[in-house]
Formats: sequence, C-alpha cells, structure tokens
Amino acid sequence: MTARELWEARLAALATRARTALAAAQSVQELEELRVHLLGRKGELTLTLRELGQLAADERPAAGALANRVRAEVEQSLEERGQEIRARDLEQRLEAEAVDVTLPGRRPPRGHPHPLVLVRQEMEAIFASLGFAVAEGPEVESEWYNFEALNIPADHPAREMQDSFYVEGHPGADEPRGQLLLRTHTSPVQIRGMLAQQRALPVRIIAAGRVYRRDDDATHSPMFHQVEGLLVDRGVSFAHLKGILAEFARRLWGPRAAIRLRPSYFPFTEPSAEVDVWCVFCQGKGCRTCKGSGWIEILGAGMVHPSVLLAGGYDPEEVSGLAFGVGVERVAMLRYQIEDIRLLYEGDLRFLEQF
Ligand SMILES: [Zn+2]
Repeated sequence: MTARELWEARLAALATRARTALAAAQSVQELEELRVHLLGRKGELTLTLRELGQLAADERPAAGALANRVRAEVEQSLEERGQEIRARDLEQRLEAEAVDVTLPGRRPPRGHPHPLVLVRQEMEAIFASLGFAVAEGPEVESEWYNFEALNIPADHPAREMQDSFYVEGHPGADEPRGQLLLRTHTSPVQIRGMLAQQRALPVRIIAAGRVYRRDDDATHSPMFHQVEGLLVDRGVSFAHLKGILAEFARRLWGPRAAIRLRPSYFPFTEPSAEVDVWCVFCQGKGCRTCKGSGWIEILGAGMVHPSVLLAGGYDPEEVSGLAFGVGVERVAMLRYQIEDIRLLYEGDLRFLEQF
C-alpha cells in the first residue's frame, strides 16, 4: 500500500465513523462536541487533512479533492442533523406547552364571612327586627365617654378591672376632658347615642364593635367584640329587659332556649344581672361546656343607672332605660363549639374554611 492509499483508507474510515456518530447524535450539545472533535483545531479530521502535505506533490491534487469532499460532507451532515434536532426539540416543547382549551377551568377559591362576622350579623338582625337601630362610635375614646359618663369615676375599682390601653394625645377641644384610650367596652356608644338624639324618645340602639383590654389567654383576647343594646323611653321596666333577652336567646338557640337572671353588679346599671342561657349542648343536664351546671353565662344587663341617663341628657325622673352587652366571641364559641378564642384571630384557613 502506498502512503496515499494508506492515507485515503484512514480518511474513508474516519468519514464512516463520522457519519455514524452524526446520525446517532440526539442533542445540540452532542453535535457541538462532535464538531469540535472532528473539525476543531486539534480535531481528528483537521489533523488528518493536515497530513496531506506529507504526500508526494503529484498525488496532492487528487487527494486534496477527496479531502475537500469528505470535509464538505461532514459539514453538511452536521448542519442537517442540527436542523433535525432543533425541529424535533421545538415540536416537543410546543407539545408540552400546549393548552388544552377543552379542560374545565380552575376557579379561584371563594371567601366567606368570618365566624365572628356571621354571629354579629345574626345578632344585629335579631335586634333590628325588635326595632333597634345600629349605632357606631370610635374605638379610640376619651375617658369621659368610656368611664365617667358611665358612672365609673377615676377612683372606681372597675377602672382597674378593665385594665386599659391608653393612647398618646388628648381629645379635641370640643370633647369632654380626660385622656384617650382604646375603648374597653361598647358602652360609650350608649352615651353618644343618647346625646345625638337630644332628649328625643325613644332611644333604641344596638352597637357592635371591637373593644380592648389587657388580657390574653385561651378564653380572653386583648381585642374582642361586643354587641350592646340600649333602650330609653318612658316606662321601660325590668320586664321589658327580660322579655327582649328571652326573645334574643330563643331566636339564637331555638324555642327551648330559656334564660335565667342572676343578680350582679355593673357601675352603669342598677339593678344589674348576669344572664345565663339554658345549655343547648346537654339540654340542661350538665356537660363540659356548661361546667355541669346546665346553664351558660352569655351576657350582662340591667336598668340604666340614673347617672348614666343624666350624662346622656335625659331626666331619670321622667324616663328609664335598659341596657345589655353580649360578647360576640362567647356566642361564636358556643355556637360553633370552639374551645380556644385565639383560633378566631389567627387567620388559619384550615380553621376558617369550616364555617
Ligand atoms: Zn351543658
């Protein structure tokens, strides 16, 4: 075999290997590696072609022509295989990203009112049907509305009981004296409601909203909600109070929900009562929720104290009033059998989605 025949045989073998390898390549990256391996500066084909210079001068033209054909063939194969692979990749990507417009749509999750809102709305609806109008007041109150006007003077022990959050600053010039605080109950709305009516009768309002006290455990929260009612008119009696609350309990817990009143003390009512509702969980037999008594305390109530009527601009010799306050959390916990009050504020959807 002459040197040229030997060289041509090596070139032919290389061309065959290159053809096979190119046909088997599956990715753009694989092709690029092959290109470098064959045609790079130290590529197999490049080095083989360089040996052309070692052949005899008269053999070079024919050998050179062959070399050019092989090189052109490899370059063309690289190009063609590259196009095939890119076309296939594009098709696969289009297929993967295709949108099936016949699939049913996915709806965004739909919210609903918080259990505290549900219970508050229900209570407001009950009292609205009894003729009460919804009234509102500010959450940042002056001490006068929150305490003094409700017959709780500065040295009164109830001021301690309702340990308060005080706020920097002072009420506006047109407001009665005292520091600002986060209201500890919705009762200031009673005073505001009476003053707004300027002695007109009757006063029949319901106030719902947030109140704040320094408390934080499984059954108390530093912020909670009250629904408060006030009725002032000529001849309002304790019988009216009992009738309204009995009707409220029946509407909330069903026709068998009896109430009982226990004497109690609040500075702003006289006489005052704590009101229990017949335990709907055990039908009065005694259970964990009612601590075995068959009764559950749900609210505080009483006849409006004469000093409070005076603060609201009414003459206690002419009119009388009844008032009551319900804890919204308490009712929600009983209604939905929630044991820890903090669940109502944590915003955990696993909990809230149950309602
Ligand atoms: Zn019970």
